[in-house]
This record gives sequence, C-alpha cells and structure tokens, in this order.
Amino acid sequence: MNILVLNCGSSSLKFQIIHTDLDLIDKDADVQKAKGLIERIGSQSLVTLQADGRPPLKVAAPLRDHKSALDYVVRWMVSPEAQIPGIRSLADIHAVGHRVVHGAEKFTRSVIISDEVIDGIEDCIDLAPLHNPANLKGIYAARELFGVGVPQVAVFDTSFHSTMPETSYLYAIPYQLYRRHKIRRYGFHGTSHRYVSYRYRQITGKDREQIKIVTLHLGNGCSACAITGGESFDTSMGLSPLEGLVMGTRGGDLDPAVLEFLVHKEGMSMSELDAMLNKQSGLIGLSGLTNDMRDLLEEEREHHDRRAALAIAIFVQRVKKYLGAYLAEMNGADALVFTGGIGENSSTIRERVCDGLDWLGIKLDPKTNADLPRGTEGVVHAADSRVHIHVIPTNEELLIARDTVRCVKDAPRRW
Ligand code: ADP
Repeated sequence: MNILVLNCGSSSLKFQIIHTDLDLIDKDADVQKAKGLIERIGSQSLVTLQADGRPPLKVAAPLRDHKSALDYVVRWMVSPEAQIPGIRSLADIHAVGHRVVHGAEKFTRSVIISDEVIDGIEDCIDLAPLHNPANLKGIYAARELFGVGVPQVAVFDTSFHSTMPETSYLYAIPYQLYRRHKIRRYGFHGTSHRYVSYRYRQITGKDREQIKIVTLHLGNGCSACAITGGESFDTSMGLSPLEGLVMGTRGGDLDPAVLEFLVHKEGMSMSELDAMLNKQSGLIGLSGLTNDMRDLLEEEREHHDRRAALAIAIFVQRVKKYLGAYLAEMNGADALVFTGGIGENSSTIRERVCDGLDWLGIKLDPKTNADLPRGTEGVVHAADSRVHIHVIPTNEELLIARDTVRCVKDAPRRW
C-alpha cells in the first residue's frame, strides 16, 4: 500500500509517501518514496519536495490554506516530473495517516477516522488549542481531496502514554478538577518514544516485556520517557507540551506562581503569557540568541558567550534531573536511548548528559560517541557501562504509516 503520511501544523504541512504492507513491516522493508514540507501556509508559502532520494525541489507558491497546500502536493506527486515510482494518479494513494497531537483519554491507540472520531478530536481542542485544529484541517483537506473511499487513520502523540499509572499522570491538585475537566498529565512525542523503544527491542532481540529503558527525545521540543515492560510509565510533558525539559522555545518546569507575579508586575495578559511560555522561553529565552542548539554550541565555543553556555548547562542539567528521577522510579534501567535532532546529532550534548553518572552505572565511551556519524544508529557506551547507551534516529512517519496499514487491515497494532 502507498500511504500518505501527513503532519499538519498551524501554518505548515509535512508529508511522506511510504510504501508498506503487513509483510513489508515484518521484513522491515518499507520504502519511503517521497517527502516534503510546506511552510508559511496562508501567505507566500515555501515548498520543499523530494522524490525517491533525488535532490529536493524548492519553490515559492501562494497557498492560502491547508487544502490548497495538500492540492499542491498531490498535483506534484502525480505529475510526470515527480517520477515517483508507482504513483501516477490519486488512486495510487491507498490510505492517509495523520499525526494528531492530543487524543486525551479518549484515544489510547491509532484509529480509522470516522465522523465520530473527528468529533472526538474536536472535543480535545480545549486541551490542545494550538495543535488539534491544525491536525483537523489536514484531515478535512484529505477527506475532500481523496473522498471517503480512501481510509484515513489518526495516530496520536498521547496514546503511547495512556499506560501511565495514576501516580504518574495525576497532578497533586484537588481531585475534582481531574474528575470534572480531566486535568492530568498526558505526555507527548509518544510516537517517537514508541518508535525508538521498538527499534531498541529489535536491536537487542529482547521481548517487549523485558524493555526497561529511559528514552530522551531531544529536538526543538524535548521530552523524556520512562519505559518499563515496553510501556510508558512516566514522561516529562504534561497536560500540554510545556512541562518538563528545557526546549528550544519552551522552558519546561516552572513554578506556577511566576505567572501571577508577571500578571501583577508586568500587566501581562493570558495570551502574552502563553507566547512567553511557548515561544520566548527555553534556549532562546535564556541565551537571548537562538532556539537552535547547534548555533548555541557554536556561540559557546567560538565566542565564549556566557548566556549561550548557561542555556546549554541548564538544558543538560534538566535532562539529568529527569533521567535520575526515572532511574529512581523504575529501580534502574537497562539502557538510555538518545533521539531527536539534538540527541541524534550532538555528541557533545550526549557526553554532557552522561558526564558524572558512572555512579548510576552510566558510562559513555567518548571516542565511540564522538565518532558516531550524525543521525545514525549506534551504541556509545563504554564496555563496562552497566546501563547501555543507544543513539536511535526517530522515525515517527514510518510508525504512522505502519499504524495506518495495521488499522486498515485490522491487524494488531501495538508496535
Ligand atoms: P523538532 O522537534 O522540531 O522535530 P528536531 O528533532 O529536528 O526538531 O531537532 C531540532 C534541534 O536539533 C535544533 O535545536 C538543532 O539545532 C538540533 N541539532 C541538529 N543537528 C545538530 C547538531 N549537529 N548539533 C547540535 N544540535 C543539533
């Protein structure tokens, strides 16, 4: 089956076309046929399209909404210049898989999208006002374009964490607030944590039940996950993706009293606070320079910038804090897995996170770590490290495509 995987943000649309099927999943022989990204939907959009490993095509186009953006992608996909093997018309797309950010308690696994499911995703908008509306736009656009004959599947960022126990997911606020409004921790990046956990299982040949690891998704958004028995036991993001680690533009954990203080001292409105928490904090807030870890590491090295160094140090310390907490919660772990743009590419950050953790049985091999080519899978611990350290590039799109096939074929879809 050719699966179109869509990940719609408020002004962006990312896609991949992945050829996969139940037997190809078994053989790990899925093929990525094309991918692309449309940014700045609503004005002069930037379009990047790449077919079958050929050099990317970059163009600008006025695309007013997600529907126009998807139309544009599909017209390119079936055009002779794209030359995507096996894709000549709309009928060559057999199903569409959507990344949906928030599934709340309603969606604990991937599902075929029906009217009822759309209502359910709409019900979650209160919990994810920034994300779910954009995901729904992608769903509506794909429905209109492909018609009801092409099945669509929703894969939720939250569903992997639905196994968390109450002790992990409840906030210690009046219990009625959970009962009344479902205020609790949900966790995000679930597709990524689930994917790297699955790869770890494949690499080590362990059974699902034996998996006891901490996964660190360090990208522009960052989260840690404690996985035991192959299931999410605890994770650092909460009701929203604001909680937990320091991220590119979000600061993670914060005393809620800061907000009231700012309302009084600076007269900030809710929307200003929201912008501060989501867009102006984290690495960019601390450094005053950038949300990009690569650039910060440059600044620290090249220009000895104090605040760049501080931002990196706070980022690293927060990761260590969660790592320590999860090792305590799970009574240790067999491995630590780094993923996400920073986790996959920055040997420096991996080294700093693991520095001084030999007491916990975590010992990185500096040379193996530094020599690991960027963005590749590898094992970077020292021979005598009790806890193994893996680098596993995430592949959320692949998991979305596979879940889509499993849902359409009604096959078991735990992995
Ligand atoms: P997103 O969460 O948006 O998917 P990514 O997972 O692509 O983001 O991660 C983006 C982050 O990865 C950026 O902070 C970027 O600087 C960082 N990154 C990418 N390559 C490197 C590198 N070689 N060294 C340090 N950081 C890197």
